[in-house]
Amino acid sequence: MDLPLSFSFELFPPRTPEGVAKLPAVIGELAAVRPEFFSITHGAGGSTQDGTYETLVTVVKHSGVEAVPHLTCVGSTRANIADLLERYRQAGVKRIVALRGDLPATAMSPSAPGEFHYASELVRFIRETHGDAFKIEVAAYPEMHPQAPNPGVDFDNFCRKVGAGADGALTQLFYNADAYFDFMDRCGKAGITIPVVPGIMPITGFANTHRFCAGCGADLPRWVRLRLEHLQDDKPALLDFGSEVVTRLCETLLRNGAPGLHFYTINQSGPTLRLWKNLALRAPAQVLA
Ligand SMILES: Cc1cc2nc3c(=O)[nH]c(=O)nc-3n(C[C@H](O)[C@H](O)[C@H](O)COP(=O)(O)OP(=O)(O)OC[C@H]3O[C@@H](n4cnc5c(N)ncnc54)[C@H](O)[C@@H]3O)c2cc1C
Repeated sequence: MDLPLSFSFELFPPRTPEGVAKLPAVIGELAAVRPEFFSITHGAGGSTQDGTYETLVTVVKHSGVEAVPHLTCVGSTRANIADLLERYRQAGVKRIVALRGDLPATAMSPSAPGEFHYASELVRFIRETHGDAFKIEVAAYPEMHPQAPNPGVDFDNFCRKVGAGADGALTQLFYNADAYFDFMDRCGKAGITIPVVPGIMPITGFANTHRFCAGCGADLPRWVRLRLEHLQDDKPALLDFGSEVVTRLCETLLRNGAPGLHFYTINQSGPTLRLWKNLALRAPAQVLA
């Protein structure tokens, strides 16, 4: 029997007054297609946990859709994390994206300050302190986390997060469907059955796509990079091309068993809703024939 597909949207806490003012409208437009949840980043690009909480409140107020905070643990103490979990529980949060996060290299060694060094420790802590009160999503890296020494070590770490109690995973962005299928093959061989939902970044420009891929170690296929570079001064043509490439990626993923899609919206409704329309996704999340 086919399982219902899961579609979700990621937001970040806005960093400018204009971004704050625009966010309710963006949430309203995205909520109209009834995603399973909105997730809200923490710490990415300098945002604070207060920013995550405020954005969570905005999502609840303007959409009625489940709001899922990201929680990063590196450099934090157990007491800090316990306080945040309590605050989220009181706010009615039912699911958390549990992450390590990033700090300068010196702050991430096992001897660094802070009581957490890896996401698997955070997953274990949430399970130990809150049982099954939260559904826990973790990050997965089809093309390997950039700091890992090799794909085998990185995959062992993913298994450790699953073993610690993760219920599901959201992947880093990628533009190469085979990397995802290879990751899923490895999950199958390791007996991992939790849903691993591909993270989809719409293509809206040459420079930002290049930067996002370089930042997380994702492969931007040469032909895509060349076409984006060539189209960079013709925004409408670049958006058409980017939307076509990502639509095809999503179709390939869904046709071959991906359990849904997690869209990195970068706080814009247009690019994600264009993909949604191209894919003819209906609300609520449905089963693809
Ligand atoms: C879906 C998604 C959402 C994200 N949201 C945010 C966000 O909101 N805020 C933000 O700051 N960042 C975010 N990130 C980025 C993420 O924080 C970084 O990629 C970070 O570098 C790793 O986080 P992690 O949870 O994957 O770490 P981990 O799973 O802990 O892995 C980090 C590295 O450590 C290695 N490792 C893990 N355990 C061990 C061990 N026991 N021994 C040796 N090596 C080990 C892994 O192989 C990997 O190289 C997100 C990423 C994804 C994919």
